[in-house]
Amino acid sequence: MFVDQIAMNKVIVLYRRPSGKAVQGDFKLIFEPVPVADDGEILLKTRFVSVDPYLRGRMNDKPSYVPPFKLNKPLQSAIIAEVIDSNDTRFKIGDMVCGNLEWKEYQVATGKGLQLIQTADIYLTAYLGILGMTGLTACLGLTEIGRPKPGETLVISGAAGAVGSVVGQIGKIMGCRVVGIAGSDQKVKLLKSKFNFDEAINYKTTMDLRGAIKTVCPDGVDIYFDNVGGKISDDVLNYINKYARIVVCGAISMYNETSRVLGPYVQPSLVSKSALMQGFIVSDFADQFPATKKQLFKWLMDGKLSYHETILEGFERIPQAFIGLFEGNNEGKMIVKV
Ligand code: NAP
Repeated sequence: MFVDQIAMNKVIVLYRRPSGKAVQGDFKLIFEPVPVADDGEILLKTRFVSVDPYLRGRMNDKPSYVPPFKLNKPLQSAIIAEVIDSNDTRFKIGDMVCGNLEWKEYQVATGKGLQLIQTADIYLTAYLGILGMTGLTACLGLTEIGRPKPGETLVISGAAGAVGSVVGQIGKIMGCRVVGIAGSDQKVKLLKSKFNFDEAINYKTTMDLRGAIKTVCPDGVDIYFDNVGGKISDDVLNYINKYARIVVCGAISMYNETSRVLGPYVQPSLVSKSALMQGFIVSDFADQFPATKKQLFKWLMDGKLSYHETILEGFERIPQAFIGLFEGNNEGKMIVKV
């Protein structure tokens, strides 16, 4: 990453649009004066930063469901920040807020879009993960599209990541047999020991992934929660049952492709199995967020969900954490502590 020091406040901007996988040189750390809160504004100090695979899409100059990041402007993601000065009566110094904020150590904001978070009941970072977009995506994607029934087999790719690990646990709560696919033996162990998955496969070391899926899913696959797309998904689709539901949550294996990837075509499997394949963006279910957050909170409090994080320390390491998502460097939610 390039460094251009002119003042005190650290800011990370998109210096260059990545070609393929993002690299450190695509980001730039700059320094600017710490801003001052005007009337009606608050001054925030960043405490925890969420990095998420979808940010990669925003680094391309292509229209999508969220606008692209601008070159030489700060990137943004979900951030937990502390109020250190306030000219807004709704916020007092010391309050913690969560919202879509810029990759800046200090920034001013209006209260718009910021959630005041309670710190008494639960650790702060849960609001970036299991009680934030991650938990909502896992719960709503699985229940609204996957529609799990007790006894069904649920297969999850990207299973040891932020979304995948929550999907599997909710699948267990709903009585499914849960199988995870992940990229290391350590992750396979974590899925079985901490998240209660019935079976897990390391797709990086299994020579015959298709055969391995067949072995651990002797009754076929009723629900496939897809976080990765590509070859792993092609292999899972071989074993879907009649009326299977395929929840297309993400396709991280394809986010860095520079040209269109052609894979096996899915129509024959979908037709022959009367299967449903549906993509979604979590905000499609925004009207259900309050009730879903309550449910997730209750499951956490009741000890039915556990939560795992990979935390990197240091503001400058935000790009490293983001790049690490594409190298499988995280177990559970990837977060940077500032
Ligand atoms: P995550 O799973 O915590 O982190 C990404 C993980 O993806 C990595 O740890 C890595 O695990 C795996 N991965 C990276 N490159 C891969 C590849 N080439 N092939 C297979 N696996 C690969 O991330 P997350 O935040 O939970 O997001 C998971 C998926 O959900 C992403 O596709 C994301 O875009 C999507 N998502 C969608 C929505 C929505 O509204 N639809 C919302 C949030 C997230 P391994 O070690 O297992 O490879």
